[in-house]
Amino acid sequence: MKSSWRLGSTNFYLAFLLANFLEPSTVFAQLPTGWKAHDWDRERPQVVTPGVANLPLPAPSDAVVLFNGKNLDEWRSADGSPAKWIVKDEVMESVPGSGYIFSAKSFGDCQLHVEWASPEKVQGKSQGRGNSGVFLQGLFEVQVLDSFDNKTYADGQAASVYGQYPPLVNASRKPGEWQSYDIIFRRPSFQDGKLAQPARITVLHNGVLVQDNVRPLGPTSWLQHKPYEAVAEKLPLSFQDHGNPVRYRNVWLRELPPEIIVQPEKPYDPVIVALTPEQQAKIAGKYVRGDGGLWEITLRDGKLYFSVSGTPLELIAHSPEEFGLKYTAGKVTIAYDTAGAPTDLQFHMGGDVSKASRSK
Ligand code: MG
Repeated sequence: MKSSWRLGSTNFYLAFLLANFLEPSTVFAQLPTGWKAHDWDRERPQVVTPGVANLPLPAPSDAVVLFNGKNLDEWRSADGSPAKWIVKDEVMESVPGSGYIFSAKSFGDCQLHVEWASPEKVQGKSQGRGNSGVFLQGLFEVQVLDSFDNKTYADGQAASVYGQYPPLVNASRKPGEWQSYDIIFRRPSFQDGKLAQPARITVLHNGVLVQDNVRPLGPTSWLQHKPYEAVAEKLPLSFQDHGNPVRYRNVWLRELPPEIIVQPEKPYDPVIVALTPEQQAKIAGKYVRGDGGLWEITLRDGKLYFSVSGTPLELIAHSPEEFGLKYTAGKVTIAYDTAGAPTDLQFHMGGDVSKASRSK
């Protein structure tokens, strides 16, 4: 029964694509993970006791504070009217039957910190015990549940990506104790209305990694499998009212930049010249620093290398006097005497300039 698959595997992506773009068929009688949702027989994660709580965790300076214990100004009901949860003792609490609450602002890629507590008095069982949820973009639920000694299906316990991915371990605290989720969320992206990249979710539950960059198969749902549909880049975050009085406090979020690396404004080596073998041969040799240490320029297969710490770094010639380093943002300059022989070398890096004289 147990066959393994990995997130990065070709089979997974093939199944993922097929499941999202093809009509359901009997060929795929289960989800691309190999499981149907809510399988009672799916192995439940091991229990791990988290370390001592260090909560509340203060928000960093660039965070958007979504709940600071004072009011629900940052939250709305589904119809846009004021959120109907209650605030008391600097905590907000879901009111059974009041409905989900939605953040007034919309978010895409983010780091989200949430502190929550299930009711101290244990009532109900399985999904009926301390159930709520954190919905990223209002679509992907990281389950909130009292999973302390409470048997339920693996993909529905606390910190599961509901109905899809059980947490790696069960790091739940006792009912009534404050717990934390630290969630890193990358939104799904779409091109021409089609899924280009699924969402990705990483979760730490009470400081323990429980979701490791998992890719939801589509928006989470009870019973249903929902395929991806193109949505806006930013959508409100929501918390679930599942009929249990679950408390939340200290909710903050950092919007994350897109996953692109900003390119440097100017090219590093705008001019590249080919030195003659004679010019190269002159430069090659040892250079003595003020502290007596040695630097060396070597010539190999028509290329010059500068050895600072034993590792030869390839030099890119801008002129016979000036060189860039192939992969490092540094510069080497060489001075010559009137006869054209190198006399001094300067190594510019990290705002510093170090000097060496040509070894006699
Ligand atoms: Mg829930």
